[in-house]
Amino acid sequence: MDLIVVKNATCTYCGCLCDDIELHASHERVLKAKHACVLGRAWFFNHPNQHALPAALIDGRPATVDSALQAAAAILDDADMPLVYGLGNSTCESQRAAMMLAEQIGAVIDSHTSLTYGPGKIAGQLTGKLTCTLGEVKNRADFVVYWGTNPVESHPRHFNKFALRAKGKFVPRGRRDRTMVLVDVRETPSARASDQFLQIRSGADLEVLTTLRALVNNRTVDRGLVAATGLTCEQLVDLAERMKQARFGVFFFGSGLTMTRGKHANVTALLSLTAELNAFTKFAAMPMRDYGNETGADAVMNSLAGYPFGLDYSRGYPRSNPGEFTAVDVLVRQEADAALIVAADPWTTMPQAALDHLDRIPRIVIDRKITPASLAARVHFTTAAPGISEAGTAYRMDRIPFPLRPALRSPHATDEDILDGIQNALRAT
Ligand code: SF4
Repeated sequence: MDLIVVKNATCTYCGCLCDDIELHASHERVLKAKHACVLGRAWFFNHPNQHALPAALIDGRPATVDSALQAAAAILDDADMPLVYGLGNSTCESQRAAMMLAEQIGAVIDSHTSLTYGPGKIAGQLTGKLTCTLGEVKNRADFVVYWGTNPVESHPRHFNKFALRAKGKFVPRGRRDRTMVLVDVRETPSARASDQFLQIRSGADLEVLTTLRALVNNRTVDRGLVAATGLTCEQLVDLAERMKQARFGVFFFGSGLTMTRGKHANVTALLSLTAELNAFTKFAAMPMRDYGNETGADAVMNSLAGYPFGLDYSRGYPRSNPGEFTAVDVLVRQEADAALIVAADPWTTMPQAALDHLDRIPRIVIDRKITPASLAARVHFTTAAPGISEAGTAYRMDRIPFPLRPALRSPHATDEDILDGIQNALRAT
């Protein structure tokens, strides 16, 4: 058996996009993923042997790619409001092809962002944001605050590679040169790694952040109102002072902040606090992006349409209105009459009312494997997996693009090929 070795491969499972993975593979499977964490290894090892999978299905039965492209084009051509959804696990090249197709068919197009970090995008538009790269965090950050996120379980190498234990130019002793605070509503495994864990009441993020803003700016606060957050005034005074005294501080925030009560108001308060801390020291904020190339989807949509998610092309030009043109909303209101799902699993992330409508309309699924959703779809395409059997580009959570170095060669097309193929089939109708 020939062994394929690929050095500096990039793992696209989570937003850390670790680019130091050494892959050892046979022609069909990844056998070893050196440096990958437990989630990364599962991502590489559980990739199916695609040689055994049909390239396409129509109504659950194997079909040629050409006939499936024709069937997909017919569904989209008949639709008045097609929905294109997913993209967080595709390459930027495929995301661009999806945007082109959405424009061609006048579709609503939305990414995973609307279900994870969308409120953060709205907050950034309202207040602006001060951010940095993970390289700067590694080399400079001596005060790290994780808010509403549990990196030990969601981004397992974030501590070691960038933010906590990594040795950097101005923090040469790594963990001993850094202070870590975790703010969350429950004690997660990440709390054990922190110097201080602040457990706040569920839904009190906005109140805690607003109090911190007041304290950083030397305003008085009401002790009784602070107590309702689950923390004491002394704890928040201490945190505000330590943040002001840091040399380089950073907030990493997760969906525990963006998708809980307050949503974009929470992130607006956090970004405002970040800006205000810069009157005293250097502070930055960064979201903990979940899907491997969710950040790339935002970047591609921004560069092509001027908006990061929740777009509508039905008038021939892009409009964005989260809450109106976001995937869950057009499904719950039963407006979408066909759906093209690109490398996503709405069945694990969307509310039941959206799934009920998704079950009623014709669906086209593009995925790496055959899933129950593929078998129930009118048309399914099997495609190569980014970073495993497909080259391309993906963006890390700090918006740095990385090339993908696959170890396997897929017998199937890429998402981009299929999306281009549907465009061509539509032009021919
Ligand atoms: S931290 Fe994320 S990107 Fe890095 S190896 Fe683990 S799953 Fe992959």
